[in-house]
Amino acid sequence: MTISVLDRNRAGDVTQGDLGGLHDAAAQVDDELLPCRTNESELWFAESPSDVEFAKTLCQACPVQALCLDGALERREPWGVWGGELFLQGVVIPRKRPRGRPRKNAAA
Ligand code: SF4
Repeated sequence: MTISVLDRNRAGDVTQGDLGGLHDAAAQVDDELLPCRTNESELWFAESPSDVEFAKTLCQACPVQALCLDGALERREPWGVWGGELFLQGVVIPRKRPRGRPRKNAAA
């Protein structure tokens, strides 16, 4: 998640009040302190597992990390890194799996 992506999602099905709270909090902080404003925003939605892990690490230094994560959990974000966690279909998952064939016993 990035603040700029939040702007683009305003017409979507996310909760406006929660995003407003995040925007209000982010507005109180210098842009240089918000990793998703000072780095390439695509990192937060990267295909590469290593890039996703890097985005999660960058979020740990964000002054609005807790608020960002709470909002993402409440909205059940469909995908991307929010508040230092990776979301997929509304839930936090530990890590992004690389592309490739699924394991033979993946149906367990
Ligand atoms: S916690 Fe991460 S995704 Fe959320 S505003 Fe901060 S840097 Fe961006």
